[in-house]
Amino acid sequence: RLFPQIGPITFDAFVDPLKPIGFTEDNKRLILSVPDDNASAITEKWKTELEMNFVEYATEITGRFIRPDLRTTENTDEKNSFVSAPVTSEQHIPFSQDAGLNPDYTFDKFVVGSGNENARAIAKAVAEGPGKVYNPYLIYGGVGLGKTHLMQAIGNQFAKDNPNARIKYATAEDFLNDFTNSLREGNQDNSNATALFKKTYRSLDMLLVDDIQFWAGKPQVQEEFFNTFNALTKANKQIVMTSDRYPNDIPDLQDRLKSRFEQGITSDIQKPDVQTRVAILRNLQDQNDLDIPNDVLQLIGEAVDDNVRTLEGAFHKFEAKIRFMNKPATIETAKSILAEINANKKAVVTVQRIQDVVATYYMQTVEDMKSSRRQANLVEARHVAIYLTRTMTDKSLPEIGRAFGDRDHSSISHAFNKIEEQVEKESSIKELIQDLAETIKNG
Ligand code: ADP
Ligand code: MG
Repeated sequence: RLFPQIGPITFDAFVDPLKPIGFTEDNKRLILSVPDDNASAITEKWKTELEMNFVEYATEITGRFIRPDLRTTENTDEKNSFVSAPVTSEQHIPFSQDAGLNPDYTFDKFVVGSGNENARAIAKAVAEGPGKVYNPYLIYGGVGLGKTHLMQAIGNQFAKDNPNARIKYATAEDFLNDFTNSLREGNQDNSNATALFKKTYRSLDMLLVDDIQFWAGKPQVQEEFFNTFNALTKANKQIVMTSDRYPNDIPDLQDRLKSRFEQGITSDIQKPDVQTRVAILRNLQDQNDLDIPNDVLQLIGEAVDDNVRTLEGAFHKFEAKIRFMNKPATIETAKSILAEINANKKAVVTVQRIQDVVATYYMQTVEDMKSSRRQANLVEARHVAIYLTRTMTDKSLPEIGRAFGDRDHSSISHAFNKIEEQVEKESSIKELIQDLAETIKNG
C-alpha cells in the first residue's frame, strides 16, 4: 500500500527492513523492529503514513484493530517479545486456544438486527444444545456479514459452558491441508499420520468448518469430509458450517453431501439495515472507549452499506484520524474519511488501466505493447507497464504474462527485474514510475 505513495527508494530503505517481532502484551500492537538509526530517521518522517495504512490494512485482513509499534533493534528484546500475551481472566475461555477460536467472536459482541436475528437464534440454540436438533447447522451469507463471527460464537459459548469439550474450528482450506499433509506424511515414513488425522477430527464434540464453498470441484476432500461428517453425526456430535453460496450452487459438490446437509438446518444472514449498522458502530465505539456524537455515527452508518467488514474498516479509519492525527470526532472528519473510502473504491487498478496510461505516455498502442515487436521505445513501454502491473495489482506472473500477449512468466520477471534495477539507479526512471502510478490511480 505504501509503495505507490513513497516510491521504491524510501520503500526499500524504510519499509522493507521492518521486521514483525510479536504482539505487545495487550495484544493490540504488532511490534516492528527498525534496524538502525538511518532507518529510524526515515521512520519518524513516515510514521503517520505508516500507521494509517497499517491500521487500515490490518483491519481489513484480520477484522481487528491492530496498531504498529515501531522499535529500534536495541529496544526490542527479540526473544522475549515472542512470548505470547497472557490471557486475562475476562477473556479466558478454556480450550479456545487449541480450538482455533478467536475469543473476540462472542454472542455478546454480535449485534442483532433483522438481517441476522434468525441465524443468531439458531446459533444460540446450537451452542446450548449441540448435537440435538439442528445438526448440521449451515450458516449462509455474503462476504463480511458475520458468518465466521457467529460460528465462532457458538464454539466460544460451548467451550465456556463445557470446559472439557473437544472443539475445533477449521477453515475448509485447513481441513483440506490437514488431510493432504496427513496423506503425504503417511506415505513418506509409514507413520500413522492419516490415522491421527481421522482420530483428531472424528473424536470431536463440535466441529466448525468455515467457507465450505472452497471444496468446489475437489472430490477427494469431499469424500474425506463425508466420512468425518458421518462419524460425528452418528455419535450426535455437532457440526456447524458456513458458506457464501447455497450447497446447490456450489459447483461439483457431491449429491450425497448435499443431501446430508439438508438433514440439518440452514439459515441465511442478510446485509444489515441502517439501524443495525449504527448499532454496530455504537458497539465499536464503546469497545474502543471513544465518545462519538450520534449524528456522526448515523452519517457513517448510512453511508457505508456494503457489509460489516467495510463498516468496521470505516470506523477504524475514523478512529485512526482521531487518535493519531488529532482530528475532532465531528461530521467534517466523518465526511473526509467517507470521501477517502469512495476515492479508494474508484481507484481499483486494472491491468487495462495501466496499459492504457503507459501506452498513451509512450505514444504507442496497447496492441503493439502486447505484440512481439522489439523497437526500443516500445520495449521500454512494455517493461514499464509490466513493472507497474506487478507492483500495483496482485496479479501473478503467469496472469501478467497472459495480459501481455501470452508471454511466459520468465520474460515477465525479466522485464520486472530490469526496470527495478533502473529504478534503483536512476532517479529519472523512479520519478517517471511514480508519476505514471499517480496518473493510473487518480486519472
Ligand atoms: P464473514 O465470515 O461472513 O465474511 P465475518 O464474521 O468475518 O464475516 O465478519 C466480518 C467482521 O464484521 C468481523 O470483524 C465481525 O466481528 C464483524 N461483524 C459481522 N457481523 C457483526 C454483527 N452482527 N455484530 C458485530 N460485529 C459483526
Ligand atoms: Mg468468514
